[in-house]
Amino acid sequence: MAGIDGSYDAIIIGSGIGGLVAGTYLAKSGIKTLIVEQADKVGGYCGSFSRDGYRFDEAVHYINNFGPQGFLRAICQELGVESLFEVLTIDPSDRLLMPGVQVAIYHNALRTTEELSRTFPKERRAIKRFFDLVGAFHFASLYVTYQRRTFRELLDEYFEDRRLKTALGLFATTMGLTADKLSALSALAYYKGSILDGGYHSVGGAQSFANALRDRFLQLGGEILLSQRVTRILIQQGTVRGIELQEGHRVSAKTMISNCDATQTFINLVGEEHVEPGFVRCLKALRPSTSTLVVYLGVERSLRDEVPDCCNLWYFPHEDSASGSINIVEDDRPNGFVHIGLSSLHDRTMAPEGCESLVLFCGASYMTVEYWREQRDRLAEILVERACHAIPQLRGGIRVKLPANPHTLFRYTLNRDGAYRGWEPTPDQTKLGLVPQKTSVEGLYLAGHWITTPVGNGGVSMVAQSGKNAARAVTTFLRRHTETVVGTVSA
Ligand SMILES: Cc1cc2nc3c(=O)[nH]c(=O)nc-3n(C[C@H](O)[C@H](O)[C@H](O)COP(=O)(O)OP(=O)(O)OC[C@H]3O[C@@H](n4cnc5c(N)ncnc54)[C@H](O)[C@@H]3O)c2cc1C
Repeated sequence: MAGIDGSYDAIIIGSGIGGLVAGTYLAKSGIKTLIVEQADKVGGYCGSFSRDGYRFDEAVHYINNFGPQGFLRAICQELGVESLFEVLTIDPSDRLLMPGVQVAIYHNALRTTEELSRTFPKERRAIKRFFDLVGAFHFASLYVTYQRRTFRELLDEYFEDRRLKTALGLFATTMGLTADKLSALSALAYYKGSILDGGYHSVGGAQSFANALRDRFLQLGGEILLSQRVTRILIQQGTVRGIELQEGHRVSAKTMISNCDATQTFINLVGEEHVEPGFVRCLKALRPSTSTLVVYLGVERSLRDEVPDCCNLWYFPHEDSASGSINIVEDDRPNGFVHIGLSSLHDRTMAPEGCESLVLFCGASYMTVEYWREQRDRLAEILVERACHAIPQLRGGIRVKLPANPHTLFRYTLNRDGAYRGWEPTPDQTKLGLVPQKTSVEGLYLAGHWITTPVGNGGVSMVAQSGKNAARAVTTFLRRHTETVVGTVSA
């Protein structure tokens, strides 16, 4: 294979943010590293594309934990990528429209408390207590109290008002679940990362962030192979030896990080014969997070005076979460839930002058290819109709309309069932060790949103941290088991 050496210290399968961060740490430590990506560009879900002058974020449209104390910012500083992309801070990051409720979530907990207390004055003290809990959140201190509980149970413990509980639950549906199923710890981690340290947009779209990591990785001597799918992880005597690519070409490596779907990694790439039967059963029984229907909209008019600036506008036309589903396959009423990403309101590179680029999201079950062939356009129209309820000025101005269904997400990233953010973050699935970073194959580690942790592992900042951890594990392995001279990855 032209340009590809036959032997590496480390190979990374997949160039999602978890893979890119891991690769950049390894290259920085002097480790000869190859990233293999099946798509024709890097980033996985963190990508963007252009159409008719509009730029759209394919999935990720904002990043969290990037404030002055944020761990994602610290990672970018350590890797020297901070200066390679530009970030805008949007405060408030999220706004919600519900009957009689229009509230915003600011980076500052006090300001958010004030905002919510204006709409729910009787709950003022409870709101303050809730945000104190969020502000002080560290999973270790709350693990015993909340590990088995849902976010709904936590909300019931704090609040009386049904609409307030619905509103706070809706903001957390970015985790792909309603409050009655979502793990309380995942919700608290999300509130902390997004409220106190959330709402950052990379100028030019999410792809700019992935490209910055790619450029730094290449600068440090790393190599990337695009449009090549790994079909096999080669194993000898329980230790990783290399990969096989789609056309049969083999590349050897002393260590490996899989950044792709965990089920694919163990069942298809490693092979069940190399994995404990109990672990295979566990993997098959775990539930992936929901997928989404996405509609990319190019709008031929400015919405700057109509819509207050934010990253995410949440629209839910019911007072109670039980009155409507966040999954459009389960609830296809024209006036229902929609989550709107509003990148061009603050980043003018995303749309032509006087126009806007919007992305509509709604939970959606994976279903069959035939189902989506028949239903895609109808459900996309319903999602647009919902967005027009939230922003009436959209009507008549739509010039570009492109839907992506769960099978599209699967095709582009090979995430099982087009999953949105790894495993479904329910209390029974948010545990350390169900799918650990260190695998039973010597020298093989995972990075990305399929590792289980007490708070879930979805979202850019979490997968970046997992990439850093995987790189540290690889450097330790190389130092212990090989002659390779390696630097260190900070704790
Ligand atoms: C619609 C949507 C919106 C989202 N919005 C946000 C958001 O705004 N903010 C946020 O923080 N998170 C968001 N998320 C979640 C976030 O995108 C993911 O949790 C995160 O990006 C996953 O990163 P990852 O490193 O695990 O890899 P992924 O992004 O899943 O990438 C895996 C990579 O591996 C490659 N690959 C797979 N198999 C192979 C193979 N066999 N050979 C070679 N390459 C392979 C894939 O092509 C892909 O590039 C969103 C997700 C979705 C779906």
